[in-house]
Amino acid sequence: MRIDAVELFHVAMPLISPWRTAYGEDYTVESVLVRIEGEGRYAWAESSPLAAPCYSPEWAGGIFAVLKKWLAPAVVGKSISSGDDLQAKLGHFKGNSFAKAALDNAWWVLDSVIQETPLYKRLGAVKNEADTGADFGVCDSINELLDDIGRAVDDGYKRVKLKFRPGWDIEMLRAVRNRFPTQTFHIDCNSGYRISDLEMFCRIDDFQLAMIEQPLQYDDLVDHARLQETITTPICLDESICSVDRAVMALDLGSCQWINIKPARVGGLTNALKIHDLAKAAGVPCWVGGMLESAVGLQIMIALSMLDNFTYPADIFPSARFYTDDVGKPEVAISRRSDGSPIVRASEAPGIGCEPDAKLLEKVTVAHARIEPS
Ligand SMILES: [Mg+2]
Repeated sequence: MRIDAVELFHVAMPLISPWRTAYGEDYTVESVLVRIEGEGRYAWAESSPLAAPCYSPEWAGGIFAVLKKWLAPAVVGKSISSGDDLQAKLGHFKGNSFAKAALDNAWWVLDSVIQETPLYKRLGAVKNEADTGADFGVCDSINELLDDIGRAVDDGYKRVKLKFRPGWDIEMLRAVRNRFPTQTFHIDCNSGYRISDLEMFCRIDDFQLAMIEQPLQYDDLVDHARLQETITTPICLDESICSVDRAVMALDLGSCQWINIKPARVGGLTNALKIHDLAKAAGVPCWVGGMLESAVGLQIMIALSMLDNFTYPADIFPSARFYTDDVGKPEVAISRRSDGSPIVRASEAPGIGCEPDAKLLEKVTVAHARIEPS
């Protein structure tokens, strides 16, 4: 298809309450929404690296600038036959996975719209529902966290993810495990530790966690392989897997036993599909993670999560978890299996069946650009 125009919206979406992790606190989610036009149709996509370069080296203001100056002009006016073709046209720009993902995801959604197919089917998935998990950031107190977990367990969540950082660590984990001896838990360290903390990770083996997510540096694979050799709890990599090449290296090195695939972090759906397939071939299961996206980004993650090597409940939450009025409409809601456990359902509309509400978008937009062929 020929890309006729790309429109970029740098948005700051206010959260209901701050999101606390090992890298700090977010009061708004900064993201980039993209509207792409081609073949007389349009589609929306999203890439959300957050406000500051703390989760990864990229940030929303940065990816808006890179998209505006370099990436969007490289694809506008061009005919692009596939996700691989799009990635090749952006290949001479190094890194910038989140920025590339904005265009890559938009290409896939637009292609699905043109083919009048739901995105999940266009990606090769068959089923249209997937399990989703619960996820808790750092709370004001352990009792508050225990109450939150209790509600999630009562609500049928099969697994609970806990943010873990110095000062909110072993003591928290012990209290949680004592209260909930059989529930599936994992912790996410958001690269807050170093290999010198090996002894602490050996102690974590006692808590029978499903996995430890990104314990060490955001760009490390070697120390993770050393840690995985020493501890029995599986390691899951998140931040470290920012491209297909990095996934290949992690699988070769034995740096992890799980991969959290966030389509935005790996450069978009083209690479997410490749990593999913490589991991599957290597016997490494995956699950879909998110960056507190609006419903637009959530629908892209939901479509991806329908693929068969995503075997652990996803970090896909209903719009109402983080937003009083999600800029993407319709909002994402949680459905239930017959046993009451929470699931997400992929949209059966062509593409993702979701786009920003014009008035809300105007309210949250901090910068806008439209790129057309020169
Ligand atoms: Mg993570």
